[in-house]
Amino acid sequence: MKQLPPDTVRLLSSSQVITSVVNVVKELMENSLDAGASSIDVKLENYGLDRIEVRDNGHGIKAVDTPVMAVRHFTSKICSHEDMEHLETYGFRGEALGSICAVAEVAVTTKTEDDDISTQYTLNFTGDILSQKPSHLGQGTTVSVLKLFKNLPVRRQYYSSTKKCKEELKKVQELLMAYAIIKPDLRLTLVHNKVVVWQKAKVADHRSALLATLGPSAVANLLPCHHHQEQLEVNGFFPKPGADHSSTSSSTPDKTFIFVNNRPVQHKDIMKLLCHHYIAQYLDDPGRNRYPILMLKITVSPSSLDVNLTPDKTQVLLLNKEAVLAAVDALLVSFYGCQPSSDPPAEKE
Ligand code: ADP
Ligand code: MG
Repeated sequence: MKQLPPDTVRLLSSSQVITSVVNVVKELMENSLDAGASSIDVKLENYGLDRIEVRDNGHGIKAVDTPVMAVRHFTSKICSHEDMEHLETYGFRGEALGSICAVAEVAVTTKTEDDDISTQYTLNFTGDILSQKPSHLGQGTTVSVLKLFKNLPVRRQYYSSTKKCKEELKKVQELLMAYAIIKPDLRLTLVHNKVVVWQKAKVADHRSALLATLGPSAVANLLPCHHHQEQLEVNGFFPKPGADHSSTSSSTPDKTFIFVNNRPVQHKDIMKLLCHHYIAQYLDDPGRNRYPILMLKITVSPSSLDVNLTPDKTQVLLLNKEAVLAAVDALLVSFYGCQPSSDPPAEKE
């Protein structure tokens, strides 16, 4: 038996963390949000395979930190695992930038309020600085990712098919929409091959964010509701009782937006509950068995949440899952008026 060479270990583990274009965009956007950005521009070329650029107006990276900004397991967000009890940032593992460096060519341009000018850093395979030069950008950080999966030819080819490219672009847009809804005061743009695909201005609240993201006809059918108990807050915008308000692409929950502590998440049990209450109104019409357009925002104490389940953090474990489900159920019962008679339907996937 032999120990694998460090470069092989790095490539193998990085390619598990960085799996797709949408995954890169998510990591970079979350870094921008953690840096307090109120404006994020995402630019893709060739569906992100040739270039992904995420530009923010956040606090930037201090010059003293730049040598380690992309070295794996260096983070400015936590000091030890105990800090997870109070986690308020999206990131904490110090893995994303370093992992992206192992599967693409990366440059980071950054400027803090104390810097006179911005500096562009070109990074190497291990996330170390290869070269640096003065640049002309304002305060904030721009990360450019070129030639994604250049050293993973099977994966690059997989994402190069026209069908997959279009699917990924749609997923990137859905990801931006999720952050647009949960962060009303964020300005966002998505540009592909120099064409604006989607954009949203800063707005005042979740309703305005839903309006800007989903459009007036979708929002006309949504009503707000709220439930609060000790250590748990549930806010929702649900389809009015009796309103047929499903996503037209019925097979994926692409407009059923679920957030736990401001993270867009997939949660089977919560999704099942939402669909169950929504669909129960149409028991006479099985054709309506679709995912509703809605927003559900759950806030719990960070100490009762495990977000480190999957590399992309889209799945979470709740410490008091039954209590959270009961609270969501109670909210749905009060909103839709009565308890559905049948058991929740089997999950569609
Ligand atoms: P993590 O987000 O888990 O800390 P990353 O690899 O994503 O790990 O980022 C490493 C570090 O680089 C962050 O902790 C942060 O200090 C810095 N950083 C990355 N992107 C940005 C950004 N857009 N603005 C400011 N700092 C950033
Ligand atoms: Mg990060």
